[in-house]
Amino acid sequence: MSNRNVILIVFTVFFVITFGACENQERTADGEEMVQEVKVDLNKVEKEDYILEIIGESQKLSDQYMASILDWRVEALSFAKEYEHIYLNGRDEKMVALTFDDGPDNNVTPAVIEILEDYGVKGAFFFVGDNVETYASVVGDAYEKGHIIASHSYHHVQLPQLSESEVAGQVRMAEEAIERVIGKKPALFRNPYGDINEEVAAILDRNGYSVILWSIDSLDYGPEMEGDDIVDVVLDNVRNGDIILMHSDSSNSATVDALPTIIIGLQEKGFEIVDLETILNINAYK
Ligand SMILES: [Zn+2]
Repeated sequence: MSNRNVILIVFTVFFVITFGACENQERTADGEEMVQEVKVDLNKVEKEDYILEIIGESQKLSDQYMASILDWRVEALSFAKEYEHIYLNGRDEKMVALTFDDGPDNNVTPAVIEILEDYGVKGAFFFVGDNVETYASVVGDAYEKGHIIASHSYHHVQLPQLSESEVAGQVRMAEEAIERVIGKKPALFRNPYGDINEEVAAILDRNGYSVILWSIDSLDYGPEMEGDDIVDVVLDNVRNGDIILMHSDSSNSATVDALPTIIIGLQEKGFEIVDLETILNINAYK
């Protein structure tokens, strides 16, 4: 081989390597989209690896009632394991999220918002669509103070008992009611009573919703439950990543009694109270 040919081959190899390296650099420098894709994949792994059992029990509820709850919890756990968009809890870090269902009203929900404000803590409200229409200013207030506004259907009905079009109607009407007040469409949904089946899960997925159930039930809706009982259920059970279920409709004044002690107790145990976007690393709005 002549010297000239050797030089040509060396140059060709040099250009191929240099050109190839530049291509790679450009592709990776191209951007955030690639980085975000990797992040989502990591989340998937994280969710599959860390799905908590739903807990929270009290002597104040009848054995029969607790038995029916326990059956539902087993079913909900299997849904969370099977479906990527159904969550019981957040990631395995020393953080928890507070969630409040069934509002707004003009009494308990404003009191909950005030307590959260006093302690500098953000929560999530799963509001019922027709209550949103009635108490729009309470929804606006919660949103302006930085809390997440999420959907709990329009009429608080057992969705698996409805037809597909009726379920879609409940989802759409609640979404429109919330959007009219805050100017954004929610992307987080909690089924009334946690009641779910495959059809409902699929409809919610198609409509761009993540289903957020819970991993600690404070049992604050129990008729005999007083503030101290609710505090005990939460503080005795808390784990990394828990999503805590409470209620803010007008029949839940015991929740208002319990909330300051719950917030202080969680913080004393070293848990950071964060919103659902933070604990789940997903968007609360479409
Ligand atoms: Zn509810």
